[in-house]
Amino acid sequence: MTALSPILKQATPVVVDHAKGCWIHGTDGRDYLDFTTGIGVTSTGHCHPQVVEAAREQVGSIIHAQYTTVMHKPLLELVDKLGGVLPTGLDSLFFANSGSEAVEAAVRLTRMATGRPNIIVFQGGFHGRTVAAATLTTAGTRFSAGFSPLMGGVQMAPFPYAKRYGWSEQQAVDFALAELDYLFATRVAPNDTAAFLIEPVLGDGGYLPTPDAFLRGLRERADKHGIVLVIDEVQAGFGRTGKFWGHEFSGVRPDVLITAKGLASGFPISAIAASAELMGKAWPGSQGGTYGGNAVAAAAACATIDVISEEGLVENARVRGEQLAEGLRRLAEKYPMITDVRGRGLMQGIEFTETGGRGGGELATAVQQATTGHGLLSLTCGPLGNVVRLIPALVVSADEIDLGLERFGAALADVAD
Ligand code: PMP
Repeated sequence: MTALSPILKQATPVVVDHAKGCWIHGTDGRDYLDFTTGIGVTSTGHCHPQVVEAAREQVGSIIHAQYTTVMHKPLLELVDKLGGVLPTGLDSLFFANSGSEAVEAAVRLTRMATGRPNIIVFQGGFHGRTVAAATLTTAGTRFSAGFSPLMGGVQMAPFPYAKRYGWSEQQAVDFALAELDYLFATRVAPNDTAAFLIEPVLGDGGYLPTPDAFLRGLRERADKHGIVLVIDEVQAGFGRTGKFWGHEFSGVRPDVLITAKGLASGFPISAIAASAELMGKAWPGSQGGTYGGNAVAAAAACATIDVISEEGLVENARVRGEQLAEGLRRLAEKYPMITDVRGRGLMQGIEFTETGGRGGGELATAVQQATTGHGLLSLTCGPLGNVVRLIPALVVSADEIDLGLERFGAALADVAD
């Protein structure tokens, strides 16, 4: 009998029958409040009517028109619509199907454009699971152990993780920037460095916001040394943080922006955006792919951008995110096993630390599993697996946040007992 490989780690036993908005209806007859959104993908909620209609209509006209063979209307429209939301100056785009592919494509672009070999990543970052993306990922050795040799030319610098050392944010930023400069002095020369690659909020690495001052420090060094600043907005982008892009908090301008996940409410599509000047330094044909910019996914992405704007979902993510964070902080006061609540907008992480002989990872896993029992879907993250992450859809209502908090509280009570 064939079965799914055990190589996949299953977070819940739920089998979906159908889903709508923030709710998943299981084949077990139960309703689950979904605070996972397919790992931060179904930003407009499950099966938003406008997204469904756009995809349905597109399926009836053309499904696949390979975009380096013949162009199609939904992609032209998407390029136009992305122009309305991308940072100024990032006006040249190409498409792929997943976050990992887009990360790889961005890295290749920066190497071609600069003629330099090295990419600097920051400890705890997650960028995907292909060989190149796994090499760039330092959110856990489980993503790369056992399948070396990995890609060459990747250097890791510290991430300013203040809490880990009991430092202020400023101390952590000063330390991480000083270590980066030391890396330049000891291991990898700045003029051998093609790119910095960083997330605005570490995602799978533990839902840690990247301090604004750190991004500004990277921007300064990128400008000084001709290094390309690549911001991976795959998880934090598209409204999730309460701003359209996660890096906007810092006021820093990226040279390359990568987006995927929330871009098309569940259809597989990713985009790489840069200035026309930077893109022009790579030769035509050096990037591409059979399925990139698929017509149905592009139509769904256009509808997603419309829905986000028409329903004010970025603002909703900010307000509902505050409500969620506040409720979680209240629960943290009650349960000493919670040692941190952090994140931005609707990207909230709850960190657990060893309590009563049980490790932080064990506690987080127990809480995550208990939430399923209480009808709330959640996930864990972090290199030590000791963070539970909540990622509701951007359409989530105040009542749904309250209900989610109530169910999360019930799961905490189960585990604490
Ligand atoms: N970058 C980030 C920031 C991500 O969160 C992810 C996925 N979790 C990826 C890249 C990889 O995306 P995908 O799984 O679509 O390849």
